[in-house]
Order: sequence, then C-alpha cells, then structure tokens
Amino acid sequence: MIEIDGTHGEGGGQILRGSLALALVTNQPFRIRNIRAGRAKPGLMRQHLTAVGAAARVGAAHVVGAELGSTELTFEPNGVTAGVYEFDIGSAGSTMMVLQAALPALARLPTASRLQITGGTHNPMAPPYEFIVETLAPQLARIGWRCEFGLQRYGFVPAGGGVINVNIAPATAPTPLQLLDRGEFQRCDARVLIAHLQRSIAERELAALQAALPWKHNGGGITQTRDSDGPGNMVSAHLHYEHVTEVVSALGERRRRGEDIAKQVAEEVRGFHSAPHAAPVGEYLCDQLLVPLAITGGGQFRSTTWSLHAESQREVIAKFLGVDVKVVHHDNDVVVTVPAAATP
Ligand code: ATP
Repeated sequence: MIEIDGTHGEGGGQILRGSLALALVTNQPFRIRNIRAGRAKPGLMRQHLTAVGAAARVGAAHVVGAELGSTELTFEPNGVTAGVYEFDIGSAGSTMMVLQAALPALARLPTASRLQITGGTHNPMAPPYEFIVETLAPQLARIGWRCEFGLQRYGFVPAGGGVINVNIAPATAPTPLQLLDRGEFQRCDARVLIAHLQRSIAERELAALQAALPWKHNGGGITQTRDSDGPGNMVSAHLHYEHVTEVVSALGERRRRGEDIAKQVAEEVRGFHSAPHAAPVGEYLCDQLLVPLAITGGGQFRSTTWSLHAESQREVIAKFLGVDVKVVHHDNDVVVTVPAAATP
C-alpha cells in the first residue's frame, strides 16, 4: 500500500487529486493521512469528496474514509472502465478539480468516454474553465490526448450549478512535450465575464484592464450571461503566443472594486509577459502538466516558477511511478524534465 503524507508540498487538495489520478492509472492502492491538515477547515470538503467518488466510480475502487471532514482515506482501485459518467459536486466546488482526478486515467484508454460534472466552473483558487480549454488542453493535445471540453452552464460561488462536458476520444500515440520557449507573441485578449450583475460593472472593468495592459490594442470584450444559477464575474487576459496561451484571471468579489480586480490581472500579465527568458509555462500550468506528462511520453518545459503544488505532484509521481521529475533552478526560471514512466 502506497503511503501519502497529506502535509507534503502545498499540503492541500492537490496531493489527494494527484494520488487519485495515479492510483487509477497504475491500479495501485494508497492510504493518505493528514488530508489538508494545514487548512483552516482540515479534511475532505465536498469538492474533494466528489473527486474521490468520481475516481472510485471510474476505477471501481473500494474506499474507506470518504466522509466530510475526514483526514484519512484508503483507496483501492480495481481497474478503470471507459464510459459515460455524471458527477454532481452538490455545491459550488470546482468541477475542474474533479477533472484533475478522473481525466488522466480515462484519457489513456483505447475506448472513448464522456464526463459531465456539475458544480463550480469559475472558482477562486482553481483553474477557470477558460484556463483548461485555452491553456491546458492545447498542451494535452500535443502529447496525444484528445479531449473536447464544453461549458453547458456557468457555475459561480456560492450558487454552483455549473455544468461542464468532456468528450474523451482514445489518445493518439504518446508524444513527448518540448515546451522551452513561447514563440512569437501574437495578441492579448482582454475579457470580462458577467452573470446576473449590471453590465456597467463589466464595462468599467474592461476599460480599466485595457488601460492597464501594456498594449494599446487588445482583442476580447464582454460576455454577459444569464445562464447560471447565481451572480458571477471574472476579469481575464488571454495571452496568445505561438506555442502557448496563458489565461490570467481574477474573480469578482463583493466589496472589491472592479478596477482593482482589473489592475491585479494587468500586473500578473506584465509579470508573465516580461519574465526573463520568456518561460512559456506559468505557475498553474506547471503543476497541471506534471501528471499528464509522466503517464504519457514525458517531456521537458521551462516554467516561470516551481510551486509547492508542483512539488506535491512531483512527490506523488515518485511514489506511484517510481520516476524522478528533475527540476533545475536558474536565476529567473526553472527547467523541468519529466521522464516517461512505464505505466500499465
Ligand atoms: P485546498 O488546498 O483548500 O484543498 P483545493 O483543493 O481547492 O484547495 P489547491 O490544492 O490549492 O486547491 O489546488 C489549486 C489548483 O488550482 C492547482 O492545480 C492550481 O494550478 C490551480 N489554480 C489555482 N488558481 C488558478 C488560476 N488562477 N488559474 C489556473 N489555475 C489555477
């Protein structure tokens, strides 16, 4: 039984999701202790429970300890089956996080699958839907995964009720990823998403973002939707380079000025765009690429940073796959080499 210490690395939900994904891929059981021990509310929350439940269904797993607040869990998978799966978080918890646990094993099967996940699609501290589609998915396509994402309904905190669909076709031959530079800068799209709130908020945010971005002319615009259970707002900049798209985003919050949200996004854009050596992989893409690469053809990429979330993934990859992700720190960035592991 593989033993995982939940306090390792970022000490949150990431190490659990990475473990679930790799337990399914390798069909190995694991026990995790101290789940989210360092968080204000330790243990499994609804979103993590759905990830456990989703992984258990996909891998016919025997699970002990899957309860709200539980800090210890045992997960024994019994072989992954392709199919049509529907998962409902039952709260505004992030659908994208459930995907992190369930997608890797299904993406490698020779048979197609379809996932529908209900919950949050635009959550704080999680990838928004657009990040998955524009930043992550193109890199997954390059390594041979064939996933098509669709947003059926928006889900914001606290109402939830968002729905995403993923069609997973059998992967093509695994191709190692080489992502060491961004290539040419093509354009920046400035966007604001707004639901059940006054359009004027979005107009002010967009104007503030346009004014603070380092380019005079940006594409983009406002998406106003009523297709959600509750109100929501996101400001985002979509940086298109030849080899990568970076989606920088911030969610609207009560009592926070829209102009401040726009400024935060613009600052992050400047940080990323002017990073020395122009590393193509940002902090979030970095941790989200590690498991897919390790179970496919491996690869090498240059990242702006090496986060604690990435360190958690590195730890679970070593435990489940027995390979060492190499991280070489340079003055301004890191070069990450992921060996291709021999997976079943
Ligand atoms: P907790 O630690 O409370 O359990 P959690 O399980 O909800 O939290 P984390 O463990 O913090 O979440 O995982 C965050 C994940 O979301 C990481 O994969 C990270 O790359 C991603 N992420 C966070 N913010 C963004 C963002 N703005 N854009 C893209 N991805 C993001």
